[in-house]
Amino acid sequence: MVSLNDVLHVLEQKGNIDVRVRMAKVLINQLQEQQTKEKEMTAATLPTKITVGKTTYSIRRGAPSGCLGNVDYDKQVISIALRDGLGNTLDPEEVRDTFWHEMTHAILHDMNHPLRDDEKFVIKFANRLSCAIDSAQF
Ligand SMILES: [Zn+2]
Repeated sequence: MVSLNDVLHVLEQKGNIDVRVRMAKVLINQLQEQQTKEKEMTAATLPTKITVGKTTYSIRRGAPSGCLGNVDYDKQVISIALRDGLGNTLDPEEVRDTFWHEMTHAILHDMNHPLRDDEKFVIKFANRLSCAIDSAQF
Protein backbone atom coordinates (compact mmCIF):
# COMPACT_ATOMS: atom_id res chain seq x y z
CA MET A 1 0.00 0.00 0.00
CA VAL A 2 1.30 3.43 -0.94
CA SER A 3 1.29 5.88 1.96
CA LEU A 4 0.66 9.57 1.69
CA ASN A 5 4.28 10.16 2.73
CA ASP A 6 5.49 8.03 -0.22
CA VAL A 7 3.39 10.10 -2.62
CA LEU A 8 4.64 13.36 -1.10
CA HIS A 9 8.25 12.11 -1.31
CA VAL A 10 7.88 11.35 -5.04
CA LEU A 11 6.25 14.74 -5.66
CA GLU A 12 9.01 16.44 -3.67
CA GLN A 13 11.66 14.74 -5.83
CA LYS A 14 9.91 15.96 -8.96
CA GLY A 15 9.76 19.44 -7.48
CA ASN A 16 6.05 19.65 -8.14
CA ILE A 17 5.10 22.11 -5.44
CA ASP A 18 1.66 22.92 -6.85
CA VAL A 19 0.48 19.34 -6.39
CA ARG A 20 1.88 19.30 -2.84
CA VAL A 21 0.02 22.49 -1.98
CA ARG A 22 -3.16 21.05 -3.47
CA MET A 23 -2.73 17.84 -1.45
CA ALA A 24 -2.11 19.86 1.72
CA LYS A 25 -5.32 21.78 1.06
CA VAL A 26 -7.23 18.52 0.58
CA LEU A 27 -5.84 17.20 3.87
CA ILE A 28 -6.68 20.43 5.69
CA ASN A 29 -10.24 20.31 4.29
CA GLN A 30 -10.63 16.69 5.42
CA LEU A 31 -9.39 17.61 8.91
CA GLN A 32 -11.78 20.58 9.10
CA GLU A 33 -14.71 18.40 7.95
CA GLN A 34 -13.82 15.84 10.63
CA GLN A 35 -13.64 18.55 13.31
CA THR A 36 -17.00 19.98 12.17
CA LYS A 37 -18.59 16.49 12.33
CA GLU A 38 -17.18 15.98 15.86
CA LYS A 39 -18.60 19.34 16.95
CA GLU A 40 -21.98 18.52 15.39
CA MET A 41 -22.00 15.13 17.15
CA THR A 42 -21.24 16.79 20.49
CA ALA A 43 -23.84 19.51 19.93
CA ALA A 44 -26.41 16.90 18.88
CA THR A 45 -26.09 15.09 22.21
CA LEU A 46 -27.38 18.18 24.03
CA PRO A 47 -31.04 19.23 24.06
CA THR A 48 -31.94 22.81 23.12
CA LYS A 49 -34.48 23.14 25.96
CA ILE A 50 -35.26 21.17 29.11
CA THR A 51 -37.82 21.63 31.89
CA VAL A 52 -37.01 21.07 35.57
CA GLY A 53 -40.08 21.38 37.78
CA LYS A 54 -41.84 24.48 36.45
CA THR A 55 -38.71 26.07 34.96
CA THR A 56 -37.82 25.61 31.28
CA TYR A 57 -34.14 26.21 30.61
CA SER A 58 -32.59 27.02 27.26
CA ILE A 59 -29.37 25.10 26.68
CA ARG A 60 -26.62 27.37 25.37
CA ARG A 61 -23.62 25.85 23.61
CA GLY A 62 -20.57 27.60 24.97
CA ALA A 63 -19.83 28.76 28.51
CA PRO A 64 -18.12 31.77 30.07
CA SER A 65 -14.32 31.52 29.76
CA GLY A 66 -12.62 29.34 32.35
CA CYS A 67 -15.92 27.55 32.95
CA LEU A 68 -17.18 24.18 31.65
CA GLY A 69 -20.78 24.90 32.52
CA ASN A 70 -23.13 27.22 34.34
CA VAL A 71 -26.78 27.55 35.36
CA ASP A 72 -28.32 31.02 35.33
CA TYR A 73 -31.50 30.50 37.39
CA ASP A 74 -32.82 34.02 36.72
CA LYS A 75 -32.34 33.96 32.95
CA GLN A 76 -33.23 30.24 32.85
CA VAL A 77 -30.17 29.38 30.77
CA ILE A 78 -27.84 26.42 31.17
CA SER A 79 -24.50 27.02 29.43
CA ILE A 80 -22.31 24.08 28.41
CA ALA A 81 -18.77 24.53 27.03
CA LEU A 82 -17.91 22.59 23.86
CA ARG A 83 -14.23 23.69 24.04
CA ASP A 84 -11.71 24.02 26.83
CA GLY A 85 -9.88 27.25 27.73
CA LEU A 86 -7.28 26.55 25.02
CA GLY A 87 -9.91 26.18 22.31
CA ASN A 88 -9.65 22.38 22.06
CA THR A 89 -12.87 20.50 21.38
CA LEU A 90 -14.01 18.68 24.51
CA ASP A 91 -14.78 14.96 24.41
CA PRO A 92 -18.53 14.32 24.02
CA GLU A 93 -18.44 12.28 27.29
CA GLU A 94 -17.06 15.31 29.12
CA VAL A 95 -19.71 17.58 27.58
CA ARG A 96 -22.45 15.16 28.65
CA ASP A 97 -20.97 14.95 32.17
CA THR A 98 -21.01 18.76 32.36
CA PHE A 99 -24.63 18.79 31.15
CA TRP A 100 -25.72 16.33 33.87
CA HIS A 101 -23.66 18.30 36.41
CA GLU A 102 -25.60 21.48 35.61
CA MET A 103 -28.87 19.50 35.53
CA THR A 104 -28.09 18.21 39.03
CA HIS A 105 -27.63 21.81 40.23
CA ALA A 106 -30.92 22.77 38.54
CA ILE A 107 -32.87 19.83 40.04
CA LEU A 108 -31.51 20.46 43.55
CA HIS A 109 -32.26 24.18 43.11
CA ASP A 110 -35.85 23.29 42.13
CA MET A 111 -36.09 21.10 45.25
CA ASN A 112 -34.59 23.95 47.30
CA HIS A 113 -32.25 21.25 48.61
CA PRO A 114 -29.31 22.23 50.86
CA LEU A 115 -26.90 20.24 48.61
CA ARG A 116 -27.68 22.39 45.57
CA ASP A 117 -24.43 24.38 45.85
CA ASP A 118 -22.32 21.54 47.27
CA GLU A 119 -19.83 21.06 44.40
CA LYS A 120 -18.34 17.85 45.85
CA PHE A 121 -21.76 16.21 46.02
CA VAL A 122 -22.85 17.53 42.62
CA ILE A 123 -19.64 16.32 40.91
CA LYS A 124 -19.89 12.82 42.38
CA PHE A 125 -23.63 12.49 41.78
CA ALA A 126 -23.58 13.88 38.23
CA ASN A 127 -20.58 11.74 37.24
CA ARG A 128 -22.40 8.59 38.32
CA LEU A 129 -25.61 9.74 36.62
CA SER A 130 -23.79 10.52 33.36
CA CYS A 131 -21.96 7.16 33.36
CA ALA A 132 -25.21 5.31 34.12
CA ILE A 133 -27.00 7.07 31.24
CA ASP A 134 -24.07 6.43 28.88
CA SER A 135 -24.04 2.73 29.82
CA ALA A 136 -27.78 2.23 29.29
CA GLN A 137 -28.62 -0.50 26.77
CA PHE A 138 -32.00 -0.73 25.07
ZN1 LIG B 1 -21.10 22.86 39.81
